[in-house]
Amino acid sequence: MVEIERHEYDVVVIGAGGAGLRAAIETRSQGLRTAVVCKSLFGKAHTVMAEGGIAASMGNVNSRDDWQVHFRDTMRGGKFLNNWRMAELHAKEAPQRVWELETYGALFDRTPDGRISQRNFGGHEYPRLAHVGDRTGLELIRTLQQKVVSLQQEDHAEYGDYEARIKVFQECTVTELLKDSAGGGVGRISGAFGYWRESGRFVLFQAPVVILATGGIGKSFKVTSNSWEYTGDGHALALRAGASLINMEFVQFHPTGMVWPPSVKGILVTESVRGDGGVLRNSEGRRFMFDYIPEVFKDNYADNEDEADRWYDDPDNNRRPPELLPRDEVARAINNEVKEGRGSQHGGVFLDVATRLPAEKITQRLPSMYHQFKELADVDITAESMEVGPTCHYVMGGVEVEPDTAASRVPGLFAAGEVAGGMHGSNRLGGNSLSDLLVFGRRAGAGAAGYVAGLAARPEIDQSDVDAAARRAQHPFEDSASTVAENPYGLHSELQQVMNDLVGIIRKGEEMRDALEKLRDLRVRAEHLAVEGNRQFNPGWHLALDLRNMLLVSECVARAALLRTESRGGHTRDDHPAMDSQWRRKLLVCAAVAERIDVVEQPQEPMREDLLTLFKLEELRKYYTEDELAEVQVKGH
Ligand code: FAD
Repeated sequence: MVEIERHEYDVVVIGAGGAGLRAAIETRSQGLRTAVVCKSLFGKAHTVMAEGGIAASMGNVNSRDDWQVHFRDTMRGGKFLNNWRMAELHAKEAPQRVWELETYGALFDRTPDGRISQRNFGGHEYPRLAHVGDRTGLELIRTLQQKVVSLQQEDHAEYGDYEARIKVFQECTVTELLKDSAGGGVGRISGAFGYWRESGRFVLFQAPVVILATGGIGKSFKVTSNSWEYTGDGHALALRAGASLINMEFVQFHPTGMVWPPSVKGILVTESVRGDGGVLRNSEGRRFMFDYIPEVFKDNYADNEDEADRWYDDPDNNRRPPELLPRDEVARAINNEVKEGRGSQHGGVFLDVATRLPAEKITQRLPSMYHQFKELADVDITAESMEVGPTCHYVMGGVEVEPDTAASRVPGLFAAGEVAGGMHGSNRLGGNSLSDLLVFGRRAGAGAAGYVAGLAARPEIDQSDVDAAARRAQHPFEDSASTVAENPYGLHSELQQVMNDLVGIIRKGEEMRDALEKLRDLRVRAEHLAVEGNRQFNPGWHLALDLRNMLLVSECVARAALLRTESRGGHTRDDHPAMDSQWRRKLLVCAAVAERIDVVEQPQEPMREDLLTLFKLEELRKYYTEDELAEVQVKGH
């Protein structure tokens, strides 16, 4: 029998990004012994890369902003497919969460009169993003970590042990969730199984609650802004445990990733560049975004350069520039310009801030961008344009959760942050992720505390499940001499190519059917993934285990994308280019049956009436069916 290190906690939070840390702060504050497990170093979670800011309607720069405007913008950005209750909670609670960060020690950029400064971003009607230059994620993580440390100091004062009630297990990867057999076999969470990345030793956490905060899935795509951690682990762990995933067809391609040199292709160029005045031009020097304002947004976006430029100084009397349309619109426009031969030398377009702002302002407001381009591409953005193109950035789809508590279908399993689905509908607005992490991280922690309080007895772990988890984890070492052995790096690169080429920014039915065939083949071959050596720091082995998750989640994306025969947000069908109001009423729900993916339609819950009245009837006409509109009118809208 393999040796396994064991720990017992009230709650295991998987992930130490913004969502995981905020959840852990909540569970610990509510008296629960909490383990935070993360596969990278503490402080290196993906959240640290966030640049532009946190969206919250504090109204510091434009006092007209309030939660209702933020709610409306979020629903518009998601093309009304959002879980409206989540969007409501998010818009209402985001300001409190940002102010709370200040009480933890965050230092945001200020307005001249000393309030937290807020910047413009795509799809947000007013300047709304609290920020720290273009390094907001770093400040968010630093502050949350500082709060964890201060809680540990309190525990030391009380128990003589810093880690008495909250402990971080860094560089530790969870590979399986464990359940008991209560509820006629449905089962409740009983713990999590994983390994230490450095030593390869196995580790078992016994706990009645697991909060998933594992982030996204971007590493399944070839060109991505995401880091190595984004392998869809939480999505796959949830599926295998019996939870459902929603909205998996919606993947956000950020319009501006670096395109050159090849080694840095996909690295993000923050939307703040456009928020602060940067404009997009094609190879003919034309500001092409004026050609791509969709009908649903015509009233809010300037159709000429003069008005667009005036907006920066006088937003109340001018419409905003089309460079600040939601990301899905801008990404599609860039894609089209390149396809029609008006792209840059390296297959992107030009993002120009150099002719729009003085050099010292650029280096002050966009210091990371300045260094990123100088060091990685030898481009001085205060003097030259950047070459940019779409890059896979964010997954709107994720674990289906109960909005108020973040509980999944599986008793004891909660999810928050990018791994959870619903909040952003078909497309996320920039800045709405960092606020989502804080709002729903806290709610997941509170939901978990409520669940634990209601438990009569703790679920038991079945030793045979632990043995099976250990066997599965060791499987890649068994096949290394076989003639059908597969190399994890080769297989990963094939997967990324399939997802990029066939389930990427523009999709076609025929190509996705092809993708599903290829994914089926890759999954069969993945049974023979083989690695050499032993479990001590072995990146090939880590990737082999991650691939099991990436393949499962990629299949969810492809299956759901094939079924949704319309274009909406982060899902563009070349063969079904229009948005279809019938589809707005439906969610596609993925579930795993013995590692086979089933996707079924589920009706979207109609929006509560008081929220519906926040929109004008003319706007609802763009999204709602005739039947729904008739009903709205009957109710006296
Ligand atoms: P993460 O911060 O990614 O944390 C995931 C955690 O889970 C990590 O600790 C990881 O180690 C751990 N983990 C994963 N799998 C396992 C496993 N199997 N076992 C153990 N641990 C595991 N959003 C905004 O709102 N504003 C911005 O300005 C912004 N800028 C961005 C810039 C860039 C370059 C990128 C890529 C994204 C940006 N986003 C922004 C999006 C935002 O940063 C992310 O959506 C958000 O940080 C996700 O946070 P999270 O807490 O859900 O996950």
